[in-house]
Amino acid sequence: MRAVKLSSPGTVTFEEVPVPEPGAGEIRVKVAGAGLCHSDLHVLDMGDAWPAFGLTMGHEGAGIVDALGPNATGHKVGDPVIVNVVWSCGNCRACVEGRDNACEVTGGRDSFPTTPGLSCDGAMAEYMIVPVRQALPLGDIDPVGAGPLTDAGLTPMHAINTVKHRLTPGATAVIIGIGGLGHVGLQIVKAISAARVVAIDADEKKLEHAKQLGADFTFAPGPETASKILELTNGYGVDVVLDFVGVQPTVDTAAAVIAPEGLVRLVGLGGGAYPMNADVAAPWGVDVQRSYGGTRADLLEVLALAAAGKIHLDYQTYPLEDFQQAIDDLRAGKLVGRAILVP
Ligand SMILES: [Zn+2]
Ligand SMILES: [Zn+2]
Repeated sequence: MRAVKLSSPGTVTFEEVPVPEPGAGEIRVKVAGAGLCHSDLHVLDMGDAWPAFGLTMGHEGAGIVDALGPNATGHKVGDPVIVNVVWSCGNCRACVEGRDNACEVTGGRDSFPTTPGLSCDGAMAEYMIVPVRQALPLGDIDPVGAGPLTDAGLTPMHAINTVKHRLTPGATAVIIGIGGLGHVGLQIVKAISAARVVAIDADEKKLEHAKQLGADFTFAPGPETASKILELTNGYGVDVVLDFVGVQPTVDTAAAVIAPEGLVRLVGLGGGAYPMNADVAAPWGVDVQRSYGGTRADLLEVLALAAAGKIHLDYQTYPLEDFQQAIDDLRAGKLVGRAILVP
């Protein structure tokens, strides 16, 4: 079969490899579509610093169950499934407390839990092997475009679930970056709350997209942006900021607009530093979290919202062999929504 491999530091190659066989407790999924994510670009850009080479890329996979290994119960050949992005153990203290995105067994203090495409072979291939527990039924959701629900849907869902008690009617939420994750995050906030949504993006096309998805206010980043947002709240500040970019200017914007006791979630991996000191600087009580992936419960909520038509992923498809074009288009900011590689 054909597979997109991270063969050496910063290098992606298209290779012919054997069709994998499912082992005990595993299934083989015929991939219908694999999402390309900014994290894939981060891995490429890390060069030597990334530890795993020779793996098939792709952590946003969905497809059709193609074969069952020994003792692989719970799925039938022909079922459409989505592949979870966080392969937690399900049994450790973190997992049973519902914090499976911080699994103690497959992840750890310095690492994330096992992730297809990053720690084992992923979805950018004709077939992939998945432990039964990590394949969730898709029902009527089209598997071609569903893969990104497992990251571009799950990751915002998790971040939003940590702030949803503050998304009361009358609250204001700022969403920074209306790309692959942000455009889903915006829909989730609109679907589960009556909060006002302010969208920020440097790209006029993406702001237009944000309006179509229900953003109440849109702003391009600039020297006046923070003061304009503060004006919307009579200078008090906003209840929630979801930063899907995370570079220094967006993190600074978050700090400049957050209300006392406001919640800031840093989701994008842009490397920005939130200015927080143990001194008298206001606003008091701001809660800042870096947000990683999501739990199995979050993923079930994403699938329920997608099945109900409350969220949808915008995407464009590329044949698997055109992975380089998809990477170039993502880098150039040409995509509205996700790129999906179709084997
Ligand atoms: Zn991702
Ligand atoms: Zn665990």
